[in-house]
Amino acid sequence: MLCVMKLEGMDIQRAMVVYAHPDDAEFGVAGTVAKWSRAGVEVTYCMITNGASGSDDPKMTRERLREIRYAEQRAAAKILGVKHCVFLGYEDGYLYPTLEVRRDVARQIRIHRPDVLVTMDPTMRIADDLYVNHPDHIAAGEVALRSINPDASTRQMFPELWTDEHLEPHKPKALLLEAFGRPATVVVDISDVLEIKVKALRAHTSQLGPEAEAMVREWAKRTGKAAGYKAGESFRIVRLENDAAERPRRQKRPPTRARAKAARHAAAGTRRRSSTGRR
Ligand SMILES: [Zn+2]
Repeated sequence: MLCVMKLEGMDIQRAMVVYAHPDDAEFGVAGTVAKWSRAGVEVTYCMITNGASGSDDPKMTRERLREIRYAEQRAAAKILGVKHCVFLGYEDGYLYPTLEVRRDVARQIRIHRPDVLVTMDPTMRIADDLYVNHPDHIAAGEVALRSINPDASTRQMFPELWTDEHLEPHKPKALLLEAFGRPATVVVDISDVLEIKVKALRAHTSQLGPEAEAMVREWAKRTGKAAGYKAGESFRIVRLENDAAERPRRQKRPPTRARAKAARHAAAGTRRRSSTGRR
């Protein structure tokens, strides 16, 4: 039986993490993943590319590196308690949000039916004037957002998923965007799972410079501090269960004074996470 984890008042039983590369999740959200897995939430990783560009060694081949990175990602997922690890196998560094990629991600969402979808914000192009985001990260985030609306949630999108594969449409309750140095609306306390996150990160032996672990610890410390935690991970949360499009018969009300006040409070609770890591 699946267990329930509360996230901002929502019941979470299943979560899916959609990222571009093996190791993206360990740098970014593995503390939250470890916490959820520990609580019994069924977490699925959906890694879109094969990681085959991640080496500067002239003796390395894309074929060998692909296998190394799959193995590293599986090891990290095992440490975190991730239930399913799906590799879509697109070439690392060549990713575009094509119809083929969109269908493949929509298929996984319809199969695993997550309550929450975690991905990287595709509007994040430059962080702290120090880091140019990898275009695969942007493409993966874009595909994830398109899966919310319309790819995974709309019956007539990719109708073959429904007619041939019998996969019903699915829309998660919430989208969680890794904040990555931008304003966040939720900080998850990962103090008690930070060591598990670091252990999972270390599984990516082929990718880590000597500074990686210290960098991730510093990010966690800085992110947590703003919310009063020893370590944290921050997200922007999009609550899809409140999506007006889901309630077409209910008339939209103008903002009341109370709701405007609540919005101001939410904005005041915003935390910033700053990160300059390369991945
Ligand atoms: Zn990456």
